[in-house]
Amino acid sequence: MIYGHVYKTARDEDGNHLSAGGLREAPWAAIAPVVHAVRVLERIVADDALLFDHRAHYLGKGKIQKGNGSLRVSTLVDRIEDFVAWANEEATALGRGHEVIPPDPHGSIGTERFRRSLAWHIARRPGGLVALAIQYGHLRTAVSGGYAARSRDGIHKLLDVETARATIDTISDLQEDLDDGLGISGPAARRAINAAATAPQFQGTVITARTARKILSNADLAVCDNPNTLLMCVYNRDRALCHRDTDNSSPSLDRCVSSCANIARTDHHAEQLRQRAAVLEKRAGRLPYPIADRLHHNADRLRTIADEHDRTRITPLESAPCPPS
Ligand code: SF4
Repeated sequence: MIYGHVYKTARDEDGNHLSAGGLREAPWAAIAPVVHAVRVLERIVADDALLFDHRAHYLGKGKIQKGNGSLRVSTLVDRIEDFVAWANEEATALGRGHEVIPPDPHGSIGTERFRRSLAWHIARRPGGLVALAIQYGHLRTAVSGGYAARSRDGIHKLLDVETARATIDTISDLQEDLDDGLGISGPAARRAINAAATAPQFQGTVITARTARKILSNADLAVCDNPNTLLMCVYNRDRALCHRDTDNSSPSLDRCVSSCANIARTDHHAEQLRQRAAVLEKRAGRLPYPIADRLHHNADRLRTIADEHDRTRITPLESAPCPPS
């Protein structure tokens, strides 16, 4: 847990401003890389200094900041640009030209857009909504299940917009795949096809906080890809097996249950299942008997799921109701 102080918003019980600051009401529950980064910063700065104390982080170029305090926003903007330059040098040196960050037509990235970029990437991971809430400091958002009912400002708008964008991206990709002739299987396959059919109406839509709320409240659009378990969750609260005893309004992708009625798989997932099986077999070849046996068993299980997909897959045409005769 990371505890910090706030100054601008620190108030006493009567609402008077506390110029000496106060302890931040909600601490951050940080993941290991964040804790490591804080430990490194603690070693860089003096004992009683701020983690981003400007004196400790001065790199010997530009104007020296006067007085105490942390790095200014303008310095952080420069640092983000330096980071982009470093990442591009690394990508070029390692022969990974496709990972070079292109010049930005809108100028410097800045702290606001950097924050949004991080949010974009986190929102697209399984459990990303919770991770976003944790990393952006809204612990109560993360631990409370009633996310959808909470008032929305600041971080909530950001969470809504990024989650809605991720949802639209998922159904648009699915629609493209189905149009290309890909098949889909699983108990939720038909619901996934119906959700994908709505994708064209969102093309070109600018996702504002308002449109995001509309999209997120539409239960028919609750489709999340889950790369970790190689399936797609077409969420229906009443059928979810990941949180039967709680009143959760979103799927717990990290606790996905293989027999859930919300599961759908595309041909891509079947292909990835076979690829993962091949990797496990390869690994098993270098390991001693009990572990190798377990990996062979897992590889068989993944191939069985992929075969089952091939046997039961349908396409949008096959799922369409028959026209009246
Ligand atoms: S258990 Fe069901 S509802 Fe939960 S994540 Fe898996 S598919 Fe979705």
